[in-house]
Amino acid sequence: MKTVSIIGGGLAGLSLGASLAKRQVPVKVYEAGTYPRHRVCGEFISGIDPETLTNLGIATELSDAQKHTSGEWYRQGRKILSMELPVAALAISRWTLDQRLSQRVEELGGQVITGERTEVNHNAGIVLAHGRPSEKSTWLGLKCHVRHFPLTSGLEMHLGNNGYIGLTPIEDGRVNLCGLFAIDEECRGKGSQRLISYLKAGGHLELVERLKRADIDETSFTGVSALKLGWQPHQPGTLVLGDAGFIIPPFTGNGMSMAFESAAIAAEPLSAWSRGKASWEDTAAGVMRQQHKAFRRRLHAALALQKLLLSSRGQDFFELLSRSHLLPFKSLLSLVR
Ligand SMILES: Cc1cc2nc3c(=O)[nH]c(=O)nc-3n(C[C@H](O)[C@H](O)[C@H](O)COP(=O)(O)OP(=O)(O)OC[C@H]3O[C@@H](n4cnc5c(N)ncnc54)[C@H](O)[C@@H]3O)c2cc1C
Repeated sequence: MKTVSIIGGGLAGLSLGASLAKRQVPVKVYEAGTYPRHRVCGEFISGIDPETLTNLGIATELSDAQKHTSGEWYRQGRKILSMELPVAALAISRWTLDQRLSQRVEELGGQVITGERTEVNHNAGIVLAHGRPSEKSTWLGLKCHVRHFPLTSGLEMHLGNNGYIGLTPIEDGRVNLCGLFAIDEECRGKGSQRLISYLKAGGHLELVERLKRADIDETSFTGVSALKLGWQPHQPGTLVLGDAGFIIPPFTGNGMSMAFESAAIAAEPLSAWSRGKASWEDTAAGVMRQQHKAFRRRLHAALALQKLLLSSRGQDFFELLSRSHLLPFKSLLSLVR
């Protein structure tokens, strides 16, 4: 059997690694960093079908994740919407999850090679799961964990005039704060001070006051400015999964689910290729086609909705609909799933 080499040990790469190892396919996952490590991520997994996790062989790794079914939306401290999710979202830190998944790949007989930034190449048998491209964008993602920060629901989503931030309870009494902001050179500071500076500029004064009473874990603070949303360019004949192929706006809480779903789409065709039952060209083209079909609608819808949520007029409209009980929340949610 031929070996599948996966470049990138995030959620797409590790869940594919586990799924292939479960099928006895020789698999190597190359990860530039080491585990555990913090990632810029809202740590709120919404829209994943539990069966997908079981089929990938990683359901146990998520079994103790916090389950959230309710959330609240705020606009600069003013509550504008209470939401109920039809299926519980799973909340768990990337610190814990990615480490567990890498251990799972090894338990199942796969190899995880850490601390090696592999050259991205397009040869047969190489799967690209290296996450967001490194080119700079106009967006900045910032995240940190805090303790002693009471929340009244499983998600607080705060809209501001420079982006948005989501807060969700995760394990060990921690709350994850993660925001997407338009880059502003005036917002400076080290670690969480930078986040606070963006929150002040966005008009989240009530949130800033609450943060003053909380314990911020500075070691968990991370930031990223390479965030080109939407489909990512790739060479024909390459097999690309997760954020390396497509980046959905974070407010949907669906990017991690898409990483798992893309691994689920690729597992069986890659297993057939490893057994010599399909050419690489057909395998790669088939997987890319299936991902396009599965993700096209939600990506377009999410990009359009994000535009609305980021503009002041769009937020006025969103708030007005919500206050008049005319916001079709369930229909909007289904568009981005
Ligand atoms: C601000 C923000 C908030 C978000 N919030 C949420 C949320 O609440 N819910 C949600 O579902 N999604 C959220 N997302 C999206 C989610 O984080 C991503 O969709 C998900 O991490 C994609 O997984 P991935 O495996 O494709 O990429 P990643 O998790 O980025 O993993 C890629 C891995 O590849 C490694 N790598 C890169 N280059 C190389 C190389 N050359 N060689 C070896 N290794 C390499 C990296 O070190 C990394 O570990 C958010 C994103 C942002 C930016």
